[in-house]
Amino acid sequence: MIADNLREVREKIAKAAASVGRDPSDVTLIAVSKTKPVSMLMEAYDFGERVFGENKVQEIMDKYGEMPADVNWHMIGHLQRNKVKYIVDKVKMIHSVDSLRLAETIEQEAAKHNVVVPVLLEVNVAEEETKFGLKPEEVLPLAEQISGFPHVSVRGLMTIAPYVDDPEENRPVFRQLKKLSVDIDSKKLDNIYMNVLSMGMTGDYEVAVQEGATMVRVGTGIFGERSYR
Ligand SMILES: *Cc1c(COP(=O)(O)O)cnc(C)c1O
Repeated sequence: MIADNLREVREKIAKAAASVGRDPSDVTLIAVSKTKPVSMLMEAYDFGERVFGENKVQEIMDKYGEMPADVNWHMIGHLQRNKVKYIVDKVKMIHSVDSLRLAETIEQEAAKHNVVVPVLLEVNVAEEETKFGLKPEEVLPLAEQISGFPHVSVRGLMTIAPYVDDPEENRPVFRQLKKLSVDIDSKKLDNIYMNVLSMGMTGDYEVAVQEGATMVRVGTGIFGERSYR
């Protein structure tokens, strides 16, 4: 079942990319495995998936030890500063940097481990009150501040679009994130890159790919519904 789902999602990504003349290999599928057992992650792994996304530090730490070493872990959830130290040397990328204080903590912990951590700045494009993330106008000032951090490398932007019935409703959100990344890229800040756009989830990843996503984060579409008890 997971293999079939993965095949389908990959095909839809390829189609969406082709529909706008993009190369499908420019889009990385992040299999969002939060709440799911390692046995299910291994099914995806055996079908070639190597990139997994989790939103809780504890869950990354648990699964990190149980999954093969060539898995790339992406931290996609809200990150508390006191937990940065547990994952800073384990994750390929942190998608959810939304404050200077968090970036400072990542800088300090990364320096201790002598690593440079690739991060994305999380933008609350739709300015939903319930969501974490920077307001669009806060992104450039934060990028300018992080620019001087030797152990934090900003690679792009991430957004969690609103929950909608029709994915087309999120097209303007994805466009706005893309535009913001182009604007920031044009400032040519030291150590700030805008190559990554992490946007699109199960309900709307095809639209996100059409609008320039280079990473899509798909959970339900691969692993099925989550049950939170
Ligand atoms: C859970 C989660 C996803 C995946 O959501 P689905 O709708 O199940 O695809 C993507 N991004 C973030 C930040 C998440 O927390």
